[in-house]
Amino acid sequence: MKRVLSGIQPSGQLTLGNYIGAMQNFVKLQNDHECFFMIVDLHAITVPQEPQALREQSEAVAALFIAAGIDPAKANVFLQSHVRAHAELGWLFTTLSYMGELERMTQFKDKSSGKDSVGTGLFVYPTLMAADILIYNADLVPVGDDQRQHLELTRDLAQRFNSRYGDYFTMPETYTPKIGARIMSLDDASKKMSKSNPNPGSYIALLDPPDVIRKKISRATTDSGREVKYNPAEKPEISNLISIYSHCSGLSIEEIEARYEGQGYGGFKKELAEYVVSVIEPLQARYHEIRSSGELHDILRSGAEKAAAIADQTVLDVKERMGFVLPK
Ligand code: ATP
Ligand code: MG
Repeated sequence: MKRVLSGIQPSGQLTLGNYIGAMQNFVKLQNDHECFFMIVDLHAITVPQEPQALREQSEAVAALFIAAGIDPAKANVFLQSHVRAHAELGWLFTTLSYMGELERMTQFKDKSSGKDSVGTGLFVYPTLMAADILIYNADLVPVGDDQRQHLELTRDLAQRFNSRYGDYFTMPETYTPKIGARIMSLDDASKKMSKSNPNPGSYIALLDPPDVIRKKISRATTDSGREVKYNPAEKPEISNLISIYSHCSGLSIEEIEARYEGQGYGGFKKELAEYVVSVIEPLQARYHEIRSSGELHDILRSGAEKAAAIADQTVLDVKERMGFVLPK
């Protein structure tokens, strides 16, 4: 069975972008793959986090994984920090990486631009991500489009390790959705929707109350035209809303265009909001059940135990190949 690894940062409230770009594929893949789905708390601290908020968001992300349909009987769900080997392999990979290749990462450029001081953690983020993936020798990594470049770097680091120390790591492949691999911000279609955006109007959070979702969609930026047409180059805002519509309704882009021909944006946005609410409302109901059931910590403990058994062995193998004296 092929192995799958992916993670989401507890760096804010999960968005519809995370759901469409990543989590929906987690749910699909769990049936015929050996899956490892992490709440990547060690990545979240590459930008400052309030301790109390980090704790709450980490539990919220874990509960949302389950609410979205990840079945702990089929997939390992755990917190990255509970499997200590991640940090250890992360360091080993940091020493294999070059400044130049990390400087080219667009996530680093985006997240550091305009900041007076930039954390080193943000800079070496991709080496920890490479460790996350390679520690399980994952074959497939379901992520949104924005993570493709990090996956490329992961493959480069795996290759570099293999050529220096002998073949060990599998080359992981990305797995992205056909439509919705990059959901854009509601206020600026040139930027991807991100949970860490300081403007909550730019994203739809999976835990937003239905009326907030309706309001955010009605206020979403559009062009001044009135044609509901999918054309990402010339109509990026409407095209983004059509992608979301397609995902939440199950209708194709052509069907959506035909439905709103000659009608302007008002009705389109109203109905889009109802489709989004119809996806999010049942998810929220399950989320609250899980949070109040008290079962979350058992799920996380058992997921971490299974993951650690594999991850610890990888670190031993890697250290042996690199020339460390192993404890006898
Ligand atoms: P942050 O702003 O803190 O980086 P984020 O919203 O980018 O938060 P991540 O935890 O970095 O979320 O990413 C989790 C997963 O969601 C990744 O697989 C990423 O590719 C995917 N993802 C994030 N944003 C989008 C988006 N706008 N469209 C599609 N997929 C996305
Ligand atoms: Mg991100």
